[in-house]
Amino acid sequence: MKYISTRGEAPELNFEEVLLTGLARDGGLYVPKSWPVLSKDTIKAMRGQSYQQVAFIVLSPYVCPEIPEDDLKELINKAYSSFRHDAIVPLAQLDGNEWILELFHGPTLAFKDVALQLLGHLFGYVLGKRSEKITIVGATSGDTGSAAIDCVQGRNFAEIFMLHPKGRVSDVQRRQMTTVIEKNVHNIAIEGDFDDCQAMVKALFNDLEFRDKINLSAVNSINWARVMAQIVYYFTSAVALGAPDRKVSFSVPTGNFGDVYAGYIAKQMGLPIDQLIVATNTNDILSRTLSNGEYKVGETIPTISPSMDIQVSSNFERLLFNIYDAKGAEVRALMENLKQSGQFNITDDRLDIAKQTFNAMRVSEDETKKTIADVFNRGGQVIDPHTAVGVNAARKNWNDKSVPMISLSTAHPAKFPEAVKEMTGVHPELPSHMANLFEREEKFDVLPNDLDVLKKYILEHL
Ligand SMILES: *Cc1c(COP(=O)(O)O)cnc(C)c1O
Repeated sequence: MKYISTRGEAPELNFEEVLLTGLARDGGLYVPKSWPVLSKDTIKAMRGQSYQQVAFIVLSPYVCPEIPEDDLKELINKAYSSFRHDAIVPLAQLDGNEWILELFHGPTLAFKDVALQLLGHLFGYVLGKRSEKITIVGATSGDTGSAAIDCVQGRNFAEIFMLHPKGRVSDVQRRQMTTVIEKNVHNIAIEGDFDDCQAMVKALFNDLEFRDKINLSAVNSINWARVMAQIVYYFTSAVALGAPDRKVSFSVPTGNFGDVYAGYIAKQMGLPIDQLIVATNTNDILSRTLSNGEYKVGETIPTISPSMDIQVSSNFERLLFNIYDAKGAEVRALMENLKQSGQFNITDDRLDIAKQTFNAMRVSEDETKKTIADVFNRGGQVIDPHTAVGVNAARKNWNDKSVPMISLSTAHPAKFPEAVKEMTGVHPELPSHMANLFEREEKFDVLPNDLDVLKKYILEHL
């Protein structure tokens, strides 16, 4: 498979190059040149297969034969051996046709593990083959950080610098990152919000000289391999509920648009998805954009679902590329407007294309809390605030109750114990491998929101 940039001016790359490159050199994001389509029979044949087997069927068109098939199988098996549930991502029933897909059984208790555990093994494989080493610089609103650190900690192929907004991630989230005391792990609290952190990472990528000097790579969902790995669970869950003979709908708690974009790809690959619901918290730039076409960056507001406290949704650029018929120049013009004036407008005809697939909705803090309480009172399930945003939006947007609705459950409730305790009276316990998290030593540095200071810090610590 060949990959091209959404802005049309960077070289075409193969899979291994895309994996290591992160952001394209023209500032765009890499996307596959075409979508591999799976036949109805191929999707049917996924019934009864393991997660790992389905992952191979879905991912191999993107990766093989560049990486030999048997090697990919082995990488997939290694990646998912770190999960605590045999199904990897089990479905749980809330009500008649209403389901949640538990994506939080990986080592750091959030759905980010599903992609990052695989990414770590892909990095190790490709870098080992090339005898190269990378520097990973990432920004996290909470969950990417720990999942990325977990997949490379103590491995000799990477140094990782992880930026989080100071005081804006939960205590559990921060400690999951800062208690990893390994020489190749560098945690940095930035005096700013998540968008500031993300902007600094992008600026490092756009400084081509610095980027080449440190062999910079990305673990954020600007990295194609992250989005790719997330396509798999749309297939496993839909097939478990009757696809491809039956349609299925999804509701996705959304921040950077990576997860729900993976659902969009699953649909392009032939999965019969009826609705894809983009559920946002009070930081509702995407629900506004998908309703009126105006992408306008506002202030980031802290919420009880902090992993979605985002204004600039990187992966939305990939969707723009698709709805603008793969015209890089048009995407470039929109992104230029965003840079100049903090906004751009999608024309009505293009917006209509997006609306054929996506419904979007903003869920308030109050509604989120009520949903946690309601799910607990009805069926006894304890869900986290991110999941609750998705469940609430699912219930309000569900067009056809005969179509199963799957809300993605993106985090374990123990990552956000305060909100969960308040609404259910239950204090969600951390799994045993993390039980002593609050007794462990923490290590991180605080830096101002200043690119030059960050660059100096990285060079000093390499
Ligand atoms: C990252 C994250 C999200 C948002 O996912 P995107 O791919 O950024 O849209 C939602 N919930 C949780 C718990 C997360 O960690």
